[in-house]
Order: sequence, then C-alpha cells, then structure tokens
Amino acid sequence: MEYQPCTLQQISEHVYWFTPESRTDRPSLAAVVGEKSTIMLEIGASPKHTREFLQALKEKGIPSPQFAVATHWHWDHWFGIDALTIPALAYRETAENMRRQMGYDFSDKGLAEQVAQGVEIAFCTEHMVIEMNETERQNMRLRMPDIVFDGRLDFDLGGVSCQIEHVGGDHASDSVVMFIPEDKVLFMGDCFYPNIYEEPRHYTRLKVIPLISKLEAYGAKQFIEGHNTQILQADEIQQYFKWVRLCYALIDKHGLDEAKLKEALRQANADEDAFDFLEEILVGEKRD
Ligand SMILES: [Zn+2]
Repeated sequence: MEYQPCTLQQISEHVYWFTPESRTDRPSLAAVVGEKSTIMLEIGASPKHTREFLQALKEKGIPSPQFAVATHWHWDHWFGIDALTIPALAYRETAENMRRQMGYDFSDKGLAEQVAQGVEIAFCTEHMVIEMNETERQNMRLRMPDIVFDGRLDFDLGGVSCQIEHVGGDHASDSVVMFIPEDKVLFMGDCFYPNIYEEPRHYTRLKVIPLISKLEAYGAKQFIEGHNTQILQADEIQQYFKWVRLCYALIDKHGLDEAKLKEALRQANADEDAFDFLEEILVGEKRD
C-alpha cells in the first residue's frame, strides 16, 4: 500500500483531522477546538504518533488539548498514552480491556505468544512492530485512563460541543463515537468495521443493523472513519448503509444461496462495496 504520512487538516469550523496511515495502521485522530477548551479524539497508536499530532497542532497555533478520549481498546487507538500529560478518558469496557492489555509482554516473543493464545491477532502485531520497534515496545508505559465513563459524556468546549456516546458494533463491543453537533461531524472510530478478531471477518445482523440506525440518527454531514483516508459525506455513508440493509433483505428473501444473492445484487446495480458487504455479512449469517 502507498505510504502517506499523517497530515493535519481543518475539515470544519472547529474540527481538525490528523489523517490515518495504513503502513503502521495509525488511525484518524482529531481535535475539536472551542473558545474554552480543546478535546483530542483518540489517544494515538504510539507515543511517537501522539507527539506528532500534538506537534502538528502546535505548529498551526491550535490550542493544546485538555482531554483525550479513546474510541475503543484496540492498540492503535491508545498505545500512545504515555505521551499525554492531560487526562485520558475511556468508556468503562474500554478501560477494562486496557487493564487486560497492560498485563501483556510486548517483546517480539511476547507478541508471538499473544497471537498463539488468541488475545491478539496477527494483523495487529504485524503493524505494531512497524509502528514501534522492540525496544520502544518494551519501554512503552501503558497506564489506565484517568476518567472512566458509562453511556454518554457531553463536553461544552465554548461555542462548540462534543457528545461522546457508546454505540458498540461488530468491530469492538466497547466502541464509542464522537459527535460535534455545531459542525455536523461524526467521528466514528472503527465502529462500522467488521469483527476482525474472529476470523473470517464478518458482520452480524443483531449488531450492524441497530448500529447504522444509531449512526444515521445523528444527522451528520461529514463522517471520519478510523482508517479511511477520505472523509465520507452523508450521501456516501448512506449508500453503504443502503447496501448493508439490502444484503439482509435479500438474505431474508433468497436464503444463504450465494449465487442467487449476487445475481440479486447485480440486478440492483450494486457496486463493489455492496459485494464486499455481502461476503462479510454471509460469514456472520452462517456462523449463527
Ligand atoms: Zn479497531
């Protein structure tokens, strides 16, 4: 994959987006800047990543964040915590998973053991070793978040607000999203991605259908995904939601016959994304 360094971009009046990077799987980070305070969305994949973001804000003269909130427990979203001198916040289930990860060995040998024991997946460790060498991983100091919350948290940043709300989903049951109503921006983390911890990757009806209803209800205009180098506009994400719903409607009509389902998708003029969803949805349907 093509290497693109993370860059800071203003995407709305109050939101600055630090783009994701696929080589080491660095996710999107963001800052929401109000008259009173600034909040950081995500903590960062490594101390290096977190510091680069804080430095990029400084270079643009953007006030430093006073809080950082992780979207979910996966390493790339919070292993930069040691570079923070401000309070880190996490949803309760996220914090519980952080505590679990703090007990692991991050040496090369330790990572191999984590994968062998099934507590981490190769996709994650393969990227982690590019983001941080063995010495950096062994010196990495993970700590618990300073503030743990349940359900929902609202920040008044002065002239702009940020609503942090648990939404769950297949990718990680602890996923929270951040909505900035004044700018109509929804920072999604990885919540709309499939379950990658139980191979093959898949979606389940019971999780993805309620999730997309929740995501739609915000009425956002711009959607920041954890690992998408493009901001999604409302019509683009609506198209994804439409394909997901259509896949389930077709399964209800035709059963799990893959050839029939693909033919029905073709008749609906479905694009490549729809066929990708179908594949991961079928895996989930066949599991239950
Ligand atoms: Zn994730």
